[in-house]
Amino acid sequence: MLSYQHLYHAGNAADVHKHAVLALALDRMVQKPKPLSYIETHAGRGRYDLRAPEAVKTGEAAQGIARLRDGFPKDHPYITALNAQPGGLYPGSPAIAQALLRREDSLHLAELHPQEHAALCDALRAPNTHIHQQDGLALAQSLCPPTPRRGLMLVDPSYEIKADYTQIPKWLAAITRKWNVGVVMIWYPILTSGAHRPMLRALQADHPQALAHGVSFPPAREGHRMVGSGLFIVNPPFGLEAGLKPLSAAFRRLR
Ligand code: SAM
Repeated sequence: MLSYQHLYHAGNAADVHKHAVLALALDRMVQKPKPLSYIETHAGRGRYDLRAPEAVKTGEAAQGIARLRDGFPKDHPYITALNAQPGGLYPGSPAIAQALLRREDSLHLAELHPQEHAALCDALRAPNTHIHQQDGLALAQSLCPPTPRRGLMLVDPSYEIKADYTQIPKWLAAITRKWNVGVVMIWYPILTSGAHRPMLRALQADHPQALAHGVSFPPAREGHRMVGSGLFIVNPPFGLEAGLKPLSAAFRRLR
């Protein structure tokens, strides 16, 4: 059932949106000296070689990071995280978090796919990084509230299983009951079919104070159904919203 491989999509426009917002949020949060927990439910392999045949075949990175990178200021935390990677590899979200977090912070990463899990262990081995080969949504429930209690959770499923759209609002309600101070970021694709809309409505009804940030972009190829990227953010860190405005402008230039 685990057929999705992020290497085909790494560095696409949706990744740039998700990773840039993640970097901005973590950058805000590390301004305070208190330690943080970072939890990721669907971690992937950590780093990606965008010259690999899989990435070249789809051409998604060529339309994503290759076109968007110059639109970021050099001191943007996303660019800081990109520059911190070995061998010019593209960082997945866990590598971005590891680059921006501190020794005293703790990371919990879930990845179910055996090969992706093995690659993640190789890529991100560090004393403060705990890598779990188990269902990420279940892991998150068992960790919450985490220690340290301040922290951020990224939820980034591939949505290959359509039940994800109905499961996530119920799952989030249980998480926020146990961890009401946590920053929780849920990524979703913006699809021509509108399949993401009922989930977004359910999330907004349960969490009216949360921030929903979306960007649109041209489809990666003709007929591709993903035409944008969305993030639903519960308890957005102070100052994050202001940092999103230039990001929206960079995506508008893609059209
Ligand atoms: N967050 C990563 C990033 O931005 O670099 C990309 C993650 S990719 C969209 C989704 C990953 O979730 C895949 O590597 C897949 O193997 C993994 N996966 C699928 N079902 C899972 C589950 N139930 N629990 C944990 N990981 C899962």
